[in-house]
Amino acid sequence: MQGYRNLSIEEALREIEHRIGPYIGRGKVADYIPVLKKVDPDQFAMAVTTVDGREYKIGNWDTGFSIQSISKAFNLTKALGKRGDQIWKRVRQEPSGRAFNSIIQLESENGIPRNPFINPGAIVIADLLHEIFEHPVEEMLDFIRKLAQNDSICINEEVFQSEKDSGAGNYSSAYLIKSFGNLHSDVHKVLSTYFALCSIEMNTLDLARSFLFLANHGRLLSGEEIVSIQQAKRINAVMLTCGTYDNVGEFAYRVGLPAKSGVGGGIAATYPGEFSIAVWSPGLNEKGNSVAGFKALEDFTTLISKSIF
Ligand code: GLU
Repeated sequence: MQGYRNLSIEEALREIEHRIGPYIGRGKVADYIPVLKKVDPDQFAMAVTTVDGREYKIGNWDTGFSIQSISKAFNLTKALGKRGDQIWKRVRQEPSGRAFNSIIQLESENGIPRNPFINPGAIVIADLLHEIFEHPVEEMLDFIRKLAQNDSICINEEVFQSEKDSGAGNYSSAYLIKSFGNLHSDVHKVLSTYFALCSIEMNTLDLARSFLFLANHGRLLSGEEIVSIQQAKRINAVMLTCGTYDNVGEFAYRVGLPAKSGVGGGIAATYPGEFSIAVWSPGLNEKGNSVAGFKALEDFTTLISKSIF
């Protein structure tokens, strides 16, 4: 259709604002962490930041939300940056083909989780953060604040408590991993760190900004290196193959960008060499991805005719 291809970022966002209405509020707000179900589902936001310093935003872009599993991308970045390829001895880089909280493969695969973005893999990464830092939560918060250029980012204590109270599945995974010798610190300490980082609250612009280094070959726009070019490539690759739950195939097919999603309804994605993009809308599909967010990203890459494929 004429005019629906090769739009500028600004035009594409305006078009999405116009057409996304029917998708907002669709799906189901996560309720297995009880506090998360209090969120108003009728919200939507999108923000784009480019490697040449432009920023665009629409909708409820300045409303904070629970980043949940999106934190796993930051945690992987720090662990890989500090320990390099050593980390792949303790967690693999393959899609799991299962739900993010599944425990089934862990036993048959000797306590080595399939990837750092399913819960068992993220728990191993949290354990690594305990080996790297004396105060991993503070370190990670400082790191995320720096990436997002926002010192007010913090943990939502109510979500943190709710995660701990409803975390039996994560405790089971952690103990099983420990029984195979792949979790070195105390289970409660490691899970407290894991839950705290999932409970960080950010807004959609914060999130787009904080993923820009992955679109900028591992560097902040100031030139400061966060991770090497190769490590940025690897993090993007793991996001592409494992970042959007057991929905990665459909996500690659419809959106075509490396991304990490969370059950708070956020999705952060990158187009290496050009931009990072974040969307948020709380209603989730049955795999755990934001329905309106997924649709908006699909429309965005289609309207601007850019995806990694
Ligand atoms: N804190 C959530 C959990 O451990 C993260 C879920 C997600 O966003 O994928 O289940």
